Amino acid sequence: MIRNPQSFAKLLADVRHFVRTECMPMEELVDRTDEIPEGLVERMRTMGLFGHSIPEAYGGAGLTTEELALVNIEVSQVATTFRARFGGNTGIASESLVVDGTPEQKEKWLPQLASGRLTGCFALTEPEAGSDATAQKTIAVRDGHDFIITGQKCYITNAPIAGLFTVFARTEPQTQGATGISAFLIERGTPGLSTPPSYRKMGQHGSPVGEVILDKVRVPASAIVGGVEGQGFRTAMKALNKQRINLAGLCVGPAIRLVDEMVRRAQSRQQFGQPVGDFQLVQQMIAESNTEVHAARALVLETARKRDAGEDVTMEASMCKLFASEVCGRVADRAVQVFGGNGYIADNVAERFYRDVRLFRLYEGTSQTHLINIAKRTVAAVAAADQAAT
Ligand SMILES: Cc1cc2nc3c(=O)[nH]c(=O)nc-3n(C[C@H](O)[C@H](O)[C@H](O)COP(=O)(O)OP(=O)(O)OC[C@H]3O[C@@H](n4cnc5c(N)ncnc54)[C@H](O)[C@@H]3O)c2cc1C
Repeated sequence: MIRNPQSFAKLLADVRHFVRTECMPMEELVDRTDEIPEGLVERMRTMGLFGHSIPEAYGGAGLTTEELALVNIEVSQVATTFRARFGGNTGIASESLVVDGTPEQKEKWLPQLASGRLTGCFALTEPEAGSDATAQKTIAVRDGHDFIITGQKCYITNAPIAGLFTVFARTEPQTQGATGISAFLIERGTPGLSTPPSYRKMGQHGSPVGEVILDKVRVPASAIVGGVEGQGFRTAMKALNKQRINLAGLCVGPAIRLVDEMVRRAQSRQQFGQPVGDFQLVQQMIAESNTEVHAARALVLETARKRDAGEDVTMEASMCKLFASEVCGRVADRAVQVFGGNGYIADNVAERFYRDVRLFRLYEGTSQTHLINIAKRTVAAVAAADQAAT
């Protein structure tokens, strides 16, 4: 749903201008130095990029799912690390609070997240709890009005620079699986919470990702998201369900950019006395890529509209994430092919995106996890339809 087409077109044009004129020229530098200059982060703040999904009542833009998807398709046409800087705040790092936070928690944290003065992170994954996120080993033991949290989180985006951590921990140690898990809001500086330096990664240089160590971290019971114990996994799934549509949009942007880059290269590179783009086998790579980009974009926007209309899009969100991330990977692979040997050399746009977008098929549910989810829900839907017909 686009609420006000005129003002939204202006917002989209501003974002596009920022991405093209201020971020794109920095891509190589950020990849090499593994750091986004603070001046550019400040520009992201003044443009309101940290608060796009946060309700207007808390200082954000309150974008609808469709509006956010369109913005995501724009912001991800530059190296995805730029989006990762603010994307947590306008995605999984704020969504738990938006969907399930108490009025006091929202009042306290959302305005800071929306302004970008505070960076948030979403700490679910653990060394033994990856695809099986319900296998949480982090424990929160009640002590009077407090909880004492001990455990370890890994691969957490923005953990090394975050000021607010949404940490999932088991409050009922005797339980297994999705029950008995609670989500806690923990501030940096709380004794016992530490974050080792960022990992070195294949791509997305400039986006710090690291561990969160929790060594007997004492927090008040009021730090539980929503104030109710045992609801944490449900909260995580609600946040991730919306995030899958966001992430799918973030996979479409790089694929659009790579089709553009492929075409330019195919037109300028001459072999056998003519542009390589004149060869039909090269045209095939471009045509297949652009067709898949259009299909992914259409699926993402249709799902976003359905969500805005109040429909349950749990299965479709999984389809969006699976399809768009796989498309993005295929397009990046073809881009390297169209660039030839040059596409394998460091600092080439195809080489950089190829490394950056590999992550999309791994995090926020691997492709295999989404396939399993889609199959399960498809089977259930057919069974329900059969039952209704009898
Ligand atoms: C750069 C980066 C940033 C991240 N950011 C965050 C973050 O901000 N917050 C957070 O909580 N997590 C984050 N993650 C973690 C990410 O979500 C996990 O890596 C992901 O869920 C996969 O878990 P795993 O790495 O343990 O893989 P594993 O679960 O060990 O999977 C290994 C392989 O086995 C397959 N597999 C597993 N189970 C099954 C099954 N039942 N059937 C078929 N195949 C299966 C997987 O698909 C995969 O191919 C991030 C990861 C990375 C790399």
